[in-house]
Amino acid sequence: MDTKKMKNYAELLVRSGGNVQKGQLVVIGCDVENADFGRLVQEAAYDAGACEVRMDWVDDKISRTTYLRAASEIFDSFPAWRVEKFKEQDDRGAVYLHVRSSDPDALSGVEPDRLRRFTKVSREATKEHTRLTMGSFRRWSIIAVPSAAWAKKVFPDLGEAEAVEKMWQYLLKGARADGENPIADWEKHKESFDARVNYLNEKQFDALRITTGLGTDIALGLAKNHVWEGGGDVDKDGIPFFPNMPTEEIFTMPDRMRADGRVVASMPLSYQGNLIDGFEMTFKDGKVSDFRAKANQSALANIIEMDEGGSRLGEVALVSNTSPIGKMNTLFYNTLFDENASSHLALGKAYPKNLKGGDELSTEEFIAAGGNDSLVHVDFMFGTQDMNVIGIHADGREEHFLKNGDFMI
Ligand code: ZN
Ligand code: ZN
Repeated sequence: MDTKKMKNYAELLVRSGGNVQKGQLVVIGCDVENADFGRLVQEAAYDAGACEVRMDWVDDKISRTTYLRAASEIFDSFPAWRVEKFKEQDDRGAVYLHVRSSDPDALSGVEPDRLRRFTKVSREATKEHTRLTMGSFRRWSIIAVPSAAWAKKVFPDLGEAEAVEKMWQYLLKGARADGENPIADWEKHKESFDARVNYLNEKQFDALRITTGLGTDIALGLAKNHVWEGGGDVDKDGIPFFPNMPTEEIFTMPDRMRADGRVVASMPLSYQGNLIDGFEMTFKDGKVSDFRAKANQSALANIIEMDEGGSRLGEVALVSNTSPIGKMNTLFYNTLFDENASSHLALGKAYPKNLKGGDELSTEEFIAAGGNDSLVHVDFMFGTQDMNVIGIHADGREEHFLKNGDFMI
């Protein structure tokens, strides 16, 4: 990939994604395999006026060896200094930028119990940081760049160098970052969400009925005063940012007590280095009552059994099959890309912003209003080319607003 395009992409992450302001602390998470790109992001952040840019280097291979070889008790605690690090950064109003390139199979074969235990302790320890980021008190943004292992997984028939190059092209196109001026393209993209978001917010449907040819047939209650969002976010100081690049979804929060029916996944789910495939769930009164997966069912169980909220829904997101990623018809084995190709649900925590005044509620009040709370938030895809969504009013009237995978609004 040529340097100019990579520079533009780094700049897009810094300026549009995190919207770095003068004098701000910036924290960049990046895999060592993409160190060159990480350096471009660091420079772009200083160009935008950052006072300090910190790198959080990660390495898939180091993580894998740790999970395979460290003493078992290591996975039952999260180091206090790491909690303190988040606190210090959050207190300074840091912006978090994430450059993702994980191999979907990085942790395959790792004992699921080690992953489950460490996820639990780390989520518990960093709850305050999660509250700040999920509640948009702190800005954050995620983009993806290829790694060799990931590119080979997506394009197994190509040689490594070719696969990586093709992956760059797909990721940039999918993220609407391959034009002359991606920052301007994203401003236009942002405006295109308004009509649909406004329509759904005005309708205030009581429930959605979603069906697909794969067998999904579910009635999803929507919380009273739910808010549909899409096309980026605004933090508490009124500064806009894009948490995910790409973003093609419009989403809200289901009522945690009202989901009834069956959901059949339309794509495998890469979760913590394990690919959960061929799976479906049945919901009753908002809770998973039955689930099965052809591959890695134990990883799916880790999500559902994490806590009470892990077995309930925190997000319903609708994506048109005409988005650039939708049209690629490619499985990326990566949530950031796959969730923007296909409509999805999330098991686990709901975003407070998806409820009117949700930010000001205590956790108990949020739950009472229908919001879900959990240590996890995991998107899984069920959207298909033949998906239909009907909005149902409290008095039973129906409006069909998404037909054969695309919006009618
Ligand atoms: Zn989503
Ligand atoms: Zn989500």
